[in-house]
Amino acid sequence: MSIRRITENVYELQLGKVNAFLLEDEKLTLIDTGVPDSTGQIIEMIREVGRQPEELKHILLTHSHPDHAGSAAQLKMITGAKVYMHAAEKMNLEKGFVAKPPVPYFTSLANKLMYNLFIKNAPGLIPSAKADVLLQDGDWLPIAGGLHAIHIPGHSAGQLAFFLPGRKNVLFAADAADNLFGLGYSCFYENFTEAERSLERLSTFDFDIACFGHGKSIMRGASERFRNKFLKHKHKAPTVKEARPYLVVEKDAIVRIQEPEEKN
Ligand SMILES: [Zn+2]
Ligand SMILES: [Zn+2]
Repeated sequence: MSIRRITENVYELQLGKVNAFLLEDEKLTLIDTGVPDSTGQIIEMIREVGRQPEELKHILLTHSHPDHAGSAAQLKMITGAKVYMHAAEKMNLEKGFVAKPPVPYFTSLANKLMYNLFIKNAPGLIPSAKADVLLQDGDWLPIAGGLHAIHIPGHSAGQLAFFLPGRKNVLFAADAADNLFGLGYSCFYENFTEAERSLERLSTFDFDIACFGHGKSIMRGASERFRNKFLKHKHKAPTVKEARPYLVVEKDAIVRIQEPEEKN
């Protein structure tokens, strides 16, 4: 367990296999809560940065998986903080149970093995809590100078990323991707088509720093790394073969480029 300062008002809380993030202004905001029983660690970390657990007012859940929503109920009970999440996963938290996707999608064999080892047979139980505020795509929260919610389905139906503009722009990418062995795809996806669309969308944002549920934050040039990795429809200059506006006429080693005739 350790704390890493990401910007002047963002801390990465490393909780073993998963990260949570603490945002500071007059009050405190927590993005994700670790597995069940992370409460003690998180409270200790809040004290370590010189703040008090009672100052925690907002708990933003990127999604309801047990490694992210596991300690939401207990933290809410102790601090009285409000829990924010997307409507698509509110029932999971309220019932205290997160079902596994019927057909998970893996981008690699290593991810499939990891899923089979650590996730497939996990009970999926979390202490239940009520969601206080339901967030949707485009919502703006008056937190740490302004925080934007971005709905990024794919890993799970109601996953949210958060974009925090500042001296350095920060993207909280949740489990849309991870940075365990370099920037890469998450261990599994419920719906990979949606996930690809979500990753493309995140790649269009301009951010210096990217934070993940799993793996260390990328501290500079993060949006470019996203674009190189996830943007499929790059707007690159067309090659001669792809270019259509001109006809290439080859005759006797002379290459002439003509404009096609306009059709009326
Ligand atoms: Zn997850
Ligand atoms: Zn996770």
